Amino acid sequence: MRMVSAKEFSDDPQVYQALLESTRAIPWKIDWASMKFAYIGPQIEPLLGWSRDSWRSVEDWAQRMHPEDRERVVNFCVTQSQAGADHEADYRALTRDNGYVWIRDVVHVVRDEHGVVEALIGFMFDISERKKTEERLLTLQSELEALSFKDGLTNIANRRRFNASLDQEWETARSQAQPLSLLMIDIDYFKQFNDLYGHLRGDQCLVEVAHTLSLALDGPRDLVARFGGEEFVILLPGADPDQAFKVAERCQRRIHKLATIHALSPHGQQLTVSIGVGTLVPGAHSQSAQFTDAVDKQLYAAKKNGRNRIERLPVGS
Ligand code: GH3
Ligand code: MG
Ligand code: MG
Repeated sequence: MRMVSAKEFSDDPQVYQALLESTRAIPWKIDWASMKFAYIGPQIEPLLGWSRDSWRSVEDWAQRMHPEDRERVVNFCVTQSQAGADHEADYRALTRDNGYVWIRDVVHVVRDEHGVVEALIGFMFDISERKKTEERLLTLQSELEALSFKDGLTNIANRRRFNASLDQEWETARSQAQPLSLLMIDIDYFKQFNDLYGHLRGDQCLVEVAHTLSLALDGPRDLVARFGGEEFVILLPGADPDQAFKVAERCQRRIHKLATIHALSPHGQQLTVSIGVGTLVPGAHSQSAQFTDAVDKQLYAAKKNGRNRIERLPVGS
């Protein structure tokens, strides 16, 4: 076979025509002075449904664009073209049957020998599949983000979410000189519960306790989280010591109402919790880790003093 030279190849208009009209990208040309289409590839019709000759001017192009994309894309393309800069834009093109196809338009600005803009030429690419993949990825990403803040067993917030909320609420409370309350809750004799009824029943019990605690909250920013194992935390932004204590009592009452049998518990042979409570208005020098430690000590005191009880930080400590 005799190979043609590059010059012979490029001098043959049939070659160009065949190349332009067989590629999946859709070529087009707009005359700058008249803003009219000088050319658009025949591939446009199978893609969008509009006949080739219905593309007369940039007006047709702008009109056949999703209204939410139109202003942004038209302004961008006009500005870029006037500045003589090659550019590309993604938008949803209207199909003849009122659907939309995602298009990436890649535009090259053609100038004459004096540098004056003469025409715009470009290619439209069908990027619907890519956009669908992007959208699926975005959905997956937000689902993953939500999952990363949720406890897998109980479906309430996890420790990571609690830490993030604590940081945020700590700053808010500090800047607004508002109180912030914290409850640390630990199930009593849970090791024995597992030993008696099995780990699966233990898991189920954790789910029930998490649900019960979440029903004891009422503030829009109140948060219950699984801190780990059989330990839970409740963050109450804006709650003063009395309000926090009331929430703790409500938690205890609701757990009592659950009436989960625990044959080895000295407290009425049913499942109980111990709760540590604390409130503070964060100052310039206070640290959240010290606060959680202090509340944890109250929880420890509740355990030491017999369990199934609430101990709270003295006000003003
Ligand atoms: P105390 O009253 O002092 O809190 O005693 P306790 O037995 O509840 O406390 P301890 O810390 O000794 O034991 C906690 C138990 O919680 C140990 C572990 O088997 C159980 N536990 C922790 N996480 C899970 C879990 O995800 N599922 C189940 N079923 N049990 C868990
Ligand atoms: Mg325990
Ligand atoms: Mg524990």
